Amino acid sequence: MAMLEIDGSKGEGGGQVLRTALSLSMVTGTPFRITKIRASRERPGLMAQHLTAVKAAKAVSSAQVEGDHEGSTELTFTPGVIGNGKFFYAVGTAGSTTLVLQTVLPALMLAPGPSEITLEGGTHNPFAPPYDFLALTFLPTLARMGPVVSATLESYGFYPKGGGRMQVAVEPVESLTPLELMERGANTRLRARAMVSGLSMSFAIRELDIIAQELGLDAGSVKPESINAESAGNVVCIEAESDQITEVFTAFGKRGITPEEFAAEALTDAREYLASTAPVGKYLADQLLLPMALAGGGRFRTVKPTRHTATNAAVIKQFLDVRIDLGQLEDGSWEIAVTN
Ligand code: AMP
Repeated sequence: MAMLEIDGSKGEGGGQVLRTALSLSMVTGTPFRITKIRASRERPGLMAQHLTAVKAAKAVSSAQVEGDHEGSTELTFTPGVIGNGKFFYAVGTAGSTTLVLQTVLPALMLAPGPSEITLEGGTHNPFAPPYDFLALTFLPTLARMGPVVSATLESYGFYPKGGGRMQVAVEPVESLTPLELMERGANTRLRARAMVSGLSMSFAIRELDIIAQELGLDAGSVKPESINAESAGNVVCIEAESDQITEVFTAFGKRGITPEEFAAEALTDAREYLASTAPVGKYLADQLLLPMALAGGGRFRTVKPTRHTATNAAVIKQFLDVRIDLGQLEDGSWEIAVTN
């Protein structure tokens, strides 16, 4: 099969271009060469997380790979046959385990048999899906397309040491069922959790006080948690559970910002979502395109699309003969339709 040429600097120019190419290369059997990997990032090229994703993809599809070393900005990937079974991937740093998982999931959910995957590294990283989003938002939505994927968090992993651990079981399907996700449904219930590791619980309590006040939550809907992790960390998750979907909005504590500033940051994405009636939040939107394209169709309503969404659509169209149409609706929300 002819080798696809992928420009890693296009659009968002981040790791997603590489991960989507790996996922679709495995599933379609199309070899590809990617150049200018992560050209738009501060430290371009393959970092530990991307390299682990490449290794994971190689193991699942018995691929031949060139250029798979740290810092590499070019990679050639020629997939073989997809296998299933037990896999173990350790990022070795706090690099995101959820992004490594998402790379191999399309192949494993269409594999000839079930798989069990153990992943080690970061579980709550800025700029990546946190475990909570994976477990409450991404996987349940995917399940509506057929594959049953369950994830269990064994330990949290924060920057810089990582050390988090997650177990994942995949029950594959022969093909994915198209999904329509146009309505959120009534009764959005809001909850918030703040987790601290190696920091005073008072941080979590102050953050949740503000979030509760701003979103009108009662005491039973907020939960401060003290957790054990190798590195200190502070994460806030706001969950919006509606009849049709649960969305999770996360913020990650940084040195030098107060719990009050941090809470304000956590509220930004949640407020954007709550101001709209769309079921799909901005992160899920870019992540749903790939399974929908593999299903041969799908449609959803979302908030304003991000550059990740546009970039992912462009990479998907290089591998699959699908149309991805984006259009704004009268109420300000957006409809994204995948058709073949
Ligand atoms: P990239 O920046 O190209 O490595 O891609 C990052 C991926 O992580 C995209 O699919 C984003 O939708 C996803 N992502 C980033 N932040 C979050 C978050 N807070 N919640 C869920 N997904 C996220």
